[in-house]
Formats: sequence, C-alpha cells, structure tokens
Amino acid sequence: MSERTQRFRPGESVPESGIYECDCGKAHRWSTSTNVKDHTFPPLPEDCSGGAWIMKDPAHPAS
Ligand SMILES: [Zn+2]
Repeated sequence: MSERTQRFRPGESVPESGIYECDCGKAHRWSTSTNVKDHTFPPLPEDCSGGAWIMKDPAHPAS
C-alpha cells in the first residue's frame, strides 16, 4: 500500500482524466475532459499559492 498522492506541475502531461485539485488548500479545482491524450496541466489560478495539481477523483473508479 503506497501513498498515491502525485503532484503534477502546470505543463506536465495529464496521465488520466478526472478531477484535480491544487495543493494550496483553497480547493481550486480543475477537471479534465474525457480524452486527456496529449493534454497538459493548466497554470494554477492567479490567486493560488500552490505549486501543483493533485489527483482528487479519477474518472474511472475502481469497480
Ligand atoms: Zn489553489
């Protein structure tokens, strides 16, 4: 059982679709479209003091 929290910086490619939240604690969110192929993470919001996006809810829940 490993810690699955991964941080993604703006400009990095999106590994999987889902809802991402920044790491500043203000819950800035960004959700991907269903097709994340060749997509990259957007810049964090202007008023965000965080530095990365964290996967919050995968679009494909384990069933
Ligand atoms: Zn933020």
